[in-house]
Amino acid sequence: MPKTKIEAVTNRLYNRVFICMKCNAKLRTDQRKVSQGKVKCRKCFSKDLRPKSKERKI
Ligand SMILES: [Zn+2]
Repeated sequence: MPKTKIEAVTNRLYNRVFICMKCNAKLRTDQRKVSQGKVKCRKCFSKDLRPKSKERKI
């Protein structure tokens, strides 16, 4: 499998993973739903979610 394809797949996976800013729970959902405010944390019902992809910039 070419490397670029692997990156595209991992990007797609990570772009759909969000982390709750309050309890750090991991949520897999669509970015569209998050921006529409339709997604809440399963544990603490917070809407403060951040994309997991930002974590990988370190
Ligand atoms: Zn939470």
